Amino acid sequence: MKIICIGRNYAAHAKELNNDVPTEPVIFLKPKTALLLPEKHLYFPEFTDDLQYECELVVKISKNGKYIQEKFAHKYYNSVSVGIDFTARDLQQKQKEKGLPWEIAKAFDGSAAIGDFVPLSNELKVQQLHFELKKNDITVQQGFTGDMIFAVNKIIEYVSQFFTLNIGDLIFTGTPSGVGAVNVYDKLEGFLEGQKLFEVNVR
Ligand code: MG
Repeated sequence: MKIICIGRNYAAHAKELNNDVPTEPVIFLKPKTALLLPEKHLYFPEFTDDLQYECELVVKISKNGKYIQEKFAHKYYNSVSVGIDFTARDLQQKQKEKGLPWEIAKAFDGSAAIGDFVPLSNELKVQQLHFELKKNDITVQQGFTGDMIFAVNKIIEYVSQFFTLNIGDLIFTGTPSGVGAVNVYDKLEGFLEGQKLFEVNVR
């Protein structure tokens, strides 16, 4: 499986990091070794002094496909979760300044935390979901998937031109504003429509 991530998919977040609002999706990948399953600790990586959380809606691909049109994209997933795209912001900033790829800042072991997946339904529609991240019991990020610049079906159309999508692949759909620092002993909890889907304890 692979983990496909979208950058700068909420205008307010693009602005908080002084990035332009993109006209095409910004894509990067994380390897399978980046996965941090629910209830696993994240061990604070020694190569960064500025680890940050980015809480995101995560879509799980349920059907193989390539060159998927936007109008058919909804047939390629049926469950979602929330997760954290952990980012070594200091390394990312250096890479950005040099125009180099982001992988060392974004794709390290444990950098893709995911929660339990819940099925989509008439009550849970992919572009009408509220999600939330709490750090040490305080809400630090709140997102609404209706605010995405590129909706999930558009992302699938775009991404599947380049990469065949396989069952089990995950798409991290971008973070809303409010990203911030993670420290050792932090507790991070992710919620979708009020339901807790993950807890990550940093050690
Ligand atoms: Mg992100």
